[in-house]
Amino acid sequence: MTDPTPTQPQRGEVDRDTLVRWLNEYLNIAAYPDPSLNGLQIEGTDVIRRVAASVDTSVKTLQDAADSGADLLLVHHGLFWGQPLALTGPHRARVRTALMADLNLYAAHLPLDAHPEVGNNAMIARALSLQQVRPFGDWQGHKIGLAGELPFPQSLQDFADRVQKLTGEICLVHGGGPPNVQRLGIVSGSGAGAVAEAAAAGLDTLLTGEPEHKHFYDAFEYGVNVVFAGHYETEVFGVRALAARLEEEFGLPWQFLHHPTGL
Ligand SMILES: [Zn+2]
Repeated sequence: MTDPTPTQPQRGEVDRDTLVRWLNEYLNIAAYPDPSLNGLQIEGTDVIRRVAASVDTSVKTLQDAADSGADLLLVHHGLFWGQPLALTGPHRARVRTALMADLNLYAAHLPLDAHPEVGNNAMIARALSLQQVRPFGDWQGHKIGLAGELPFPQSLQDFADRVQKLTGEICLVHGGGPPNVQRLGIVSGSGAGAVAEAAAAGLDTLLTGEPEHKHFYDAFEYGVNVVFAGHYETEVFGVRALAARLEEEFGLPWQFLHHPTGL
């Protein structure tokens, strides 16, 4: 019998730097020109034993994460968006909440929309049994969404109902395209601007999160249906799948903190 290797890390805990390195590589964060400061945004305790996941970062989510006993909060929308920000007001309160609790904050924005295994769009595509899946949804030269074919054509209403079952929220539907849905593009979050690209790719329907007024007529004039399922609701999938992946890899228990914005 051989002795257990003393350097073998114990399942159920991992040192922070190892975890951050693993996440950075797994999510390929260096590949994305993203205003979000993807990666470790706030450094907390050295050893991670418990993870919390949420879509957004607020005082409430940070405090809930700390109260749940998490050492790491994994989010899609972090605290830093491409500009220097003084530590005053709510920004200070958020940072302070994390620091007081010795909580690590890790953000993954576009890399988590686009990720082929745990990305928001990959998870939605899988839930809808999308076939012939291919990259779609250009963001500064990177495809962050997916397109593909539904297994059978379905009415726009049936499709919207199906999406509603998936997210639990009523969808807003702009029926600018054909009555039946089959060729679908998916861009989680703010994808209202992808209608022209959907039309050019021969898609009949775009599923995204949040509408934008300036794109209202696009659906009708490009002849594409647009189903808005909510920015928040289309982005719960990635952080949950990523936290589950961490459990698989390192044995870390995790919890999803559900704070819907209704947007
Ligand atoms: Zn988003």
